[in-house]
Amino acid sequence: MLIGNGDGFVSCACGRRHWGLFGAAGLLLSDPRRGVLLQHRAAWTHEGGSWALPGGAVQPDETSAQAAARETEEETAVPGEAFRVLAQRADEHGSWRYTTVLATALGDAARPRVANAESTALRWVPPGEVADYPLHSGFAAAWPELRDQLGRRLVLLVDAATVIDARSDGRSRDRAGAVARLRDRLAVLAGMGVSAADVGLDGVAGAAHWSWWPQVVLVAEGAAAGTEPAAGVAVVGPGADGPGADGDAGIVAAARTVRAGGPGDHLVVVTADPRLRDGADATEVLDPAAVLDPAALWRLLAACAPA
Ligand SMILES: [Zn+2]
Repeated sequence: MLIGNGDGFVSCACGRRHWGLFGAAGLLLSDPRRGVLLQHRAAWTHEGGSWALPGGAVQPDETSAQAAARETEEETAVPGEAFRVLAQRADEHGSWRYTTVLATALGDAARPRVANAESTALRWVPPGEVADYPLHSGFAAAWPELRDQLGRRLVLLVDAATVIDARSDGRSRDRAGAVARLRDRLAVLAGMGVSAADVGLDGVAGAAHWSWWPQVVLVAEGAAAGTEPAAGVAVVGPGADGPGADGDAGIVAAARTVRAGGPGDHLVVVTADPRLRDGADATEVLDPAAVLDPAALWRLLAACAPA
């Protein structure tokens, strides 16, 4: 065991004691066919005998997502390659924090088995049956909000033209080069994640405590439409809504495609187009509140990788 690790109890401002000197994290792994993975906690653990998520104390050199993945592999033998992380929810107590990391299983690669003494059983449980289990109190309190976000991604649909034009150097002739540079910076952002407040979703019911590793869809026109994708970033042309479907019509068509692929996903469109920002012909696919100004995106990009 490491000296100075995160194992230990914290006397919390809420009046209770919690495990994890640097907070704790758990993995909510969901699979559309099997349900969510629950752990039956060993009798000797805190609230032993209850059902909850694999997880444990965050170590000082870890992010919450890294801690949740490490603990899950230790307890269930499911490696990080078997799932994709989508989002996380922080339950802030002031002097302590519990982070639930939401992930979706990739194919059949997740084959959980009891791998250490912290669990007595592991079980895939349909979401509708979770509340019937004797749950750990913290998980029980969070479950309704967690269930509401199962499998839901944040998709950032980025209108490359207006985002690049929002920068002083945006009118250079090398349009494809500018799109490629934007793509690279969006890939960094996708890997680091964004909070609800970052993308204007903090006012959306149930979304305030969440952050996401977004899927970015970069909509590029002309020669730039052939830009190669990058990790977390797809590049598409303006949606095929007939001839002349560029500008706002192209973005709306691309948004419609995203919506069809994930009806429950959070969709945020980054554009300076005033017609989209007013939600004129886009209300069927866009909540006007989910349109982000390019300046807000550039601030996020600058914060995670200064130009
Ligand atoms: Zn507390």
